[in-house]
Amino acid sequence: MFEVVIGLEVHIQLNTKTKIFCSCATSFGEKANTNVCPVCLGLPGALPVLNKEAVKKAINFGYAVNATVHKKSVFNRKNYFYPDLPKGYQISQFEIPIVENGELFIDFEDGSQKRIGITRAHLEEDAGKNIHEEGYSKVDLNRAGTPLLEIVSEPDIRSIDEAIKYLKKLHSIVRYLDISDANMQEGSFRCDVNVSIRPKGDEKLYTRVEIKNMNSFKFIQKALEYEIQRQIEAWEDGVYEKEVVQETRLFDLPSGTTRSMRGKEDSDEYRYFPEPDLLPVILDDKMLEEGKEIPELPDEKKERYIKEYKIKEYDAAVITSSLLMANFFEEMISEGASAKNSVIWLTVELLGRLKNGLSLETSPVDAKKLSALIKRIEDNTISGKAGKDVLDYLMENDEEVDSVIEKLGLKQVSDEGALLVIIDEILKNNQDKVEEYRAGKDKLLGFFVGQCMKASRGKANPAKINQLLKEKLT
Ligand code: ADP
Ligand code: MG
Ligand code: ZN
Repeated sequence: MFEVVIGLEVHIQLNTKTKIFCSCATSFGEKANTNVCPVCLGLPGALPVLNKEAVKKAINFGYAVNATVHKKSVFNRKNYFYPDLPKGYQISQFEIPIVENGELFIDFEDGSQKRIGITRAHLEEDAGKNIHEEGYSKVDLNRAGTPLLEIVSEPDIRSIDEAIKYLKKLHSIVRYLDISDANMQEGSFRCDVNVSIRPKGDEKLYTRVEIKNMNSFKFIQKALEYEIQRQIEAWEDGVYEKEVVQETRLFDLPSGTTRSMRGKEDSDEYRYFPEPDLLPVILDDKMLEEGKEIPELPDEKKERYIKEYKIKEYDAAVITSSLLMANFFEEMISEGASAKNSVIWLTVELLGRLKNGLSLETSPVDAKKLSALIKRIEDNTISGKAGKDVLDYLMENDEEVDSVIEKLGLKQVSDEGALLVIIDEILKNNQDKVEEYRAGKDKLLGFFVGQCMKASRGKANPAKINQLLKEKLT
């Protein structure tokens, strides 16, 4: 009945060494108010100088999302008062951002993709931080002046799932480009979520609510669930006009609800005007050309994997979603595991075992070891099932694959002599079934295989057992 409309504004902190308009360090977690100078403190008379690295990273981003990178862009003053903003204005780009009209593709489980438009991406400076504790409010200005790229999407997103997919794809792209560490806990990748509803089939955009400053996929999910439900209920109860107004809301984690923070400020309330202390940014051809030099991105890598390794589209999307995982996968293959098994053992078996704060980065089993394990399955030394036991063991113990196989006694028996002993025994004990099989009850083969596997305590090579049984039974 209703359709959800979502547009996202994401702020990423660019990983330059120094701030956007001064040479203070951008390092995180320093003692309060130590990475500051007259420029980022907003002292009178101090003059900003634009950091070229920040501009380069913005250009890289523009080309990565097929956008227009403007040769000329302009910084403005966005005026407002807040204790963490000592100048009384933020330097940001407004009418002429550096990047405009881009796109990004999100991946669905069935292998299809959807395009989400990127309206613009502009450079700006971050504010400081207010800290409220023990009855005091304190201001830390270490973050003031850190370079941000604000990336604004079109209202093309139609579900919570699409919103999360968009954010994950964007997160992945900026990490591939190495323009941001995109660490969500530290606030280097945070998001304002704009959401409205409309009757399905209606083309017009309805009133949107903006949920500010979200820095976790899980919270974004929860905030959207609540807010969409609130809007739908207001509509159904006939109080939509009254309850759903254009405003900024905050997500309250303990209650899982959103609440009104302030009414919508119009852009003219910020009294934007061109920053008089900075010239317009003019990019020369050399900078534009160099900005096009970007690494292989998730979508290209995905296409290459599909072609090169013949793996499924969605598997390729999952693996290329992080550079770390893609590199892990490629290392497994170069170590000799097949692509098909590498996909399964990486995305299902290993990822499924990385719990309790473990990630691929801190995984006790590295690509080389996982590949060694797969090779032992592929050369029939152990069964796939035994492989899972070996992996369980390796998650807890730093040992070599072959010695674990030995230690756990998992080596598969392929030796014909040994297998025939088992087979003869089983056939002898099941004379009646042998008769039935020979009389045409083919289904019984499975029974014999099962018995032999059981007798070998799972160690017999099943393919070999199958073959030998057939020979014996004819
Ligand atoms: P502002 O500049 O006031 O923040 P914008 O028009 O630039 O407003 O939109 C900000 C974000 O809100 C964009 O991501 C846009 O896609 C999204 N948006 C705009 N209208 C709607 C709507 N009706 N429902 C959901 N999202 C919307
Ligand atoms: Mg906005
Ligand atoms: Zn400074």
